[in-house]
Amino acid sequence: MRQQYSSYQECMDFFQSAQVQNSNLFKVEYIGTTWEERQILCVTISKDVATADTKPALFYTGTIHAREWIGIELSLTFAKYILNHIDYDPQLNALLSRATLYMVPCANPDGYEYSRTHFSFWRKNRRQNADGSFGVDLNRNFSIGFTPNKNTTSNVYPGPSPFSEPETAAIRDFFEAHDNIAIALDYHSQGNVFFPAHNFIHEDALDATDLNVLASNMAEEIRKVSSREYGVHMGKPPTHLISGSGREFYYSKGVLALVVEVGTRNISDYMEHMSENINENLPALMSALAEVPNYDKHHRLPRVNAFIATRVGAKEVTLEWEYPEDEDVYFEIYRANKPKSFCQSANCVGMTKSATFTDCHLNASTNYYYFIRAVCKKRKIKSPYAPKIGIRTRPEVNMFSKIVG
Ligand SMILES: [Zn+2]
Repeated sequence: MRQQYSSYQECMDFFQSAQVQNSNLFKVEYIGTTWEERQILCVTISKDVATADTKPALFYTGTIHAREWIGIELSLTFAKYILNHIDYDPQLNALLSRATLYMVPCANPDGYEYSRTHFSFWRKNRRQNADGSFGVDLNRNFSIGFTPNKNTTSNVYPGPSPFSEPETAAIRDFFEAHDNIAIALDYHSQGNVFFPAHNFIHEDALDATDLNVLASNMAEEIRKVSSREYGVHMGKPPTHLISGSGREFYYSKGVLALVVEVGTRNISDYMEHMSENINENLPALMSALAEVPNYDKHHRLPRVNAFIATRVGAKEVTLEWEYPEDEDVYFEIYRANKPKSFCQSANCVGMTKSATFTDCHLNASTNYYYFIRAVCKKRKIKSPYAPKIGIRTRPEVNMFSKIVG
């Protein structure tokens, strides 16, 4: 089974050869060196790759937990897909003309190799702690919410101080040097679930709708491929699960950040399962890449203000909002029957240039949720979402009681 997974060396060899094969699309660099002196690989993928840093970017990290092998394999499969389709797939071509993909396929090379060749369920890196024990949980070693803990043998030992580890320091330095990063996806296993960043407050943030829609759109792409239902985590997670995590660090810098927990095992038992989990995640990654230009930190289209329902009947709802005068802008309105929903063409119920919209033919006594974003035709970008609104339609007028009344 283990032989079916790429070694770290094979991963590095693949990306080196991809760079040779298409040097206009791939750029390989090494952003740090681990305790065991492995190079930490970072790959830039973009059309005309020399201009990559001038475009908004998606930042992909995989296998920060050693035993979660899917991260490295998914990055390889995604890169191979791009390499093999860039000349034939106009959508992919357009995406990589406007956006950049940075990938750290394996954020924990020492731990990954230890897991692959010695002890499958190893999670941490391979720092030798002062007491002779090994390892720091790299996903507790970032600065946001870092929680000191002296238990070095714990599987979630956060290390002596934030960024004490060469792996997290390398990721921090790369991330901070790339202000063009708009969305960060950190791939783990397992659980078939998305964990949006929370900043320890959850749901109150202005961009909570953006995080949930991004995750829900990715989940919907997965469902279209495999019928598998990925959840979008509801509620505030226990603090100990996100203390010092990469996701919260990226989010603290104004980047939309999600953890994706792939599959139902840390390590897929069979190649068959792993391929399935990987294939269903490719369109989801593409959908995230497509959102990158909309979340460019420096050139965002303003979101809609004061989005409210002004009239709620049994069969129809009238929505209103405010927006600065702009003749190139129109609005897309989406409707869902659950609060965390995808927003795709299938549930787009209205497009209008006006600042009001009436949705008709609804069911009485039913909960509906509405989402709205502005679209600029000229700049070909969409705004972040206004905070979603939820309404309940009124009960049907009871004809019988009217007659007898
Ligand atoms: Zn993990």
